[in-house]
Amino acid sequence: MSEQTETGSVKLMVFRPSGKKIWTVVGKDNEYWVDPETEFCSCNSFYFKTLSGGEPCYHIRAVKKSMQNGIGAIEFDDEDYLRILQAVAEDAEKFLLRR
Ligand SMILES: [Zn+2]
Repeated sequence: MSEQTETGSVKLMVFRPSGKKIWTVVGKDNEYWVDPETEFCSCNSFYFKTLSGGEPCYHIRAVKKSMQNGIGAIEFDDEDYLRILQAVAEDAEKFLLRR
């Protein structure tokens, strides 16, 4: 996969007026939830590699790159924050529990 594609699949949601952010990276089969501040990602390689002291997975790297380069945010209302966070977290949880 090219750099371009990886960067293009990063999604940033910003909630107003609080300015809270949710980052996701859309992969081939899944949408991964990434928290660049805590360097969390809901993907396989994060689970098996990053947590055991390896490099950050490419989703985290893609998000950090997008933070540097700037990315267009999709704006939401603060009142949608919990609902969207829950949906993203639930997906991540389902994905993690499947293995
Ligand atoms: Zn990842």
